Amino acid sequence: MMMPQDIDLILQEALLYGRSFLSRGKVADYIPELAKADPSHLGICLILPDGTTCRAGDWNVPFTMQSIAKTFSLILALQTVGYEKVFSKVGMEPTGDCFDSIVQLESKQLPPFNPMINAGAIVTVGCIDLPDPFEAFLDLVRRLCFHDAIRLNEQVYLSEKHSGLRNRSIAYLLQSDHILEGDPEQILDRYFRMCSVEVTTEDLARYALILANDGLDPVTGGQMIDEWIVRIVKTLMLTCGMYDESGEFAVKAGIPSKSGVGGGIVAAAEQGIGIATYGPVLNKKGNSIGGIHMLEYLSGKLNLHYFANKTCTSV
Ligand code: GLN
Repeated sequence: MMMPQDIDLILQEALLYGRSFLSRGKVADYIPELAKADPSHLGICLILPDGTTCRAGDWNVPFTMQSIAKTFSLILALQTVGYEKVFSKVGMEPTGDCFDSIVQLESKQLPPFNPMINAGAIVTVGCIDLPDPFEAFLDLVRRLCFHDAIRLNEQVYLSEKHSGLRNRSIAYLLQSDHILEGDPEQILDRYFRMCSVEVTTEDLARYALILANDGLDPVTGGQMIDEWIVRIVKTLMLTCGMYDESGEFAVKAGIPSKSGVGGGIVAAAEQGIGIATYGPVLNKKGNSIGGIHMLEYLSGKLNLHYFANKTCTSV
């Protein structure tokens, strides 16, 4: 049985290991506002099922969720319109292409492959059948992160809205093929807002804790998300959550995870452990390079791989 101070020590080691890779990547700049992030930042938060919270480095620096929002919009779509409707509009397969690729749309391999890439997420957001989908999204994020003050970062939202030409192309291509229902501009506006919601690693680790415990909050005992929805979300995180690096990350870390170009990664680990990392320096695939390496390190140290030998739990 590990003590919190043992885990604190391991987090410090993970941080050191993660930092050694930061010179190999760069901060996202295709959304101009994201380019302002400090490339030296690296932080992590890990929460055990009894609520013990361990933090290291720049765990408290706020960042926008970006693609991590895709997990919340999938939950909301499944809750509001159900499995059949959502998966008639979006698939469940990894793409092997980058997150904002339009190549499959143009070659008529429809519908979009999965809800964790931009095309699939835009369709998923379009499915959410509620009077104010963004308010419902924000409410869900606040509840699952246990933090009422979570809000939109207006600058990042406007920056992406003005520079998001690729996403606009994706939405109009989807409309032309009758996959996207409704006004593309309105759906894109919701998608940009969702991506621009600002969190810290502790917020996301709290959410990861719920995912890691099949929708149950082990601290309060409340069922926060239906178990069948969590199973779908975690499966898609494991197979598609790190875009065209999902296979390699599944082999090396084996933790259902979702990254965002803001530098965050949310990771729902074995043994009911919730983890989130932040480091805005990205690798070529658009994943946080420090975050990936910290999670790989922790997976080895704490026996968190999905297919690890379950008889030797180490935490
Ligand atoms: N908002 C970003 C975009 O649509 C999200 C992409 C990401 O985090 N990979 O380009």
